[in-house]
Amino acid sequence: MSNRTFTMIKPDATSKGYTGAILDQIIKAGYSVKAMKWTKLTIEQAGLFYDIHRERPFFGDLVKFMSSGPIVAAILEKENAVEDFRTLIGATNPANAAEGTIRKNFAASIGENAVHGSDSDENAQIEGDFFFSKLERF
Ligand code: ATP
Ligand code: MG
Repeated sequence: MSNRTFTMIKPDATSKGYTGAILDQIIKAGYSVKAMKWTKLTIEQAGLFYDIHRERPFFGDLVKFMSSGPIVAAILEKENAVEDFRTLIGATNPANAAEGTIRKNFAASIGENAVHGSDSDENAQIEGDFFFSKLERF
């Protein structure tokens, strides 16, 4: 079991001014930030990040959306980080997200759902490596 996960605050949330409130909820849930950057993906970079979904019908909309504005990328640490963070963010579709979760609080739709959270320890490592060099994390 790893104690690290990877997150992005997605363009819908950064553009609505929710960045501070989402980070506050993450930190209050016990996570410490091990790396963080404010950046913007190209459509090609968004495609590489979500490569696993390339054959899905929503892939085109997903990469267009994820490159439409700035994001905040971060590596977070806490015991049982991956599983607990998925609980904290709630279901992919905010309509199904539990009360008090980040997606329930801040997401508008299944496509524009405010935050990303890694789904396994292995993907947390891969996704953190996608954004951060050794110099940018501790
Ligand atoms: P994420 O990987 O961003 O944390 P997730 O793990 O909850 O989300 P995935 O199945 O990995 O969900 O889908 C990746 C993203 O693709 C979702 O966050 C959502 O924005 C988009 N997506 C997934 N399913 C659909 C769908 N049926 N229609 C539109 N967009 C979708
Ligand atoms: Mg996912």
